[in-house]
Amino acid sequence: AAARVLVSACLLGSRVRFDGRAKTVADAVVDRWRAERRVVAHCPEVAGGLPVPRPPAEIEPGASAADVLAGAARILTPEGADVTAHFVAGARAALETARRQGVRTAVLKESSPSCGLLRVYDGTFSGHTAPGPGVTTRLLLDHGIAVFPETALAEADAHLRAQDG
Ligand code: SF4
Repeated sequence: AAARVLVSACLLGSRVRFDGRAKTVADAVVDRWRAERRVVAHCPEVAGGLPVPRPPAEIEPGASAADVLAGAARILTPEGADVTAHFVAGARAALETARRQGVRTAVLKESSPSCGLLRVYDGTFSGHTAPGPGVTTRLLLDHGIAVFPETALAEADAHLRAQDG
């Protein structure tokens, strides 16, 4: 069977970002995945109960996603509202969805505190980033799911096809 791939919903054109917009990736690889019915769309922050639009939120400066998942650090809005529980719930929902669908590959939106891989915003709300990953990415990686940023679709495609059975 064709293996399935979990994809950040905003990359697929869903207007689920904090600012109410999408970050659509227009790419033949994604078009082919859709045609082959491989795509499982997911937005961890919406799944975790946050509204659209919503205030931006970032992992506390100096803390990691692992710290957040361990309950040792928070995710805050610029006004200091604690939205950690929503982010953690959304990460767990992503893992549950992936498991239910037999997903072993994910393509997630770079730099997001949920979906980032290599970089995430650094908690200062200045547009600067720190090394990733985000909270959902951390949880998926910890459970053996390969995560690629939207800039590595060819690599994601190769990994995905290797899972076909
Ligand atoms: Fe996109 Fe992930 Fe942010 Fe949802 S949580 S809007 S899927 S980057």
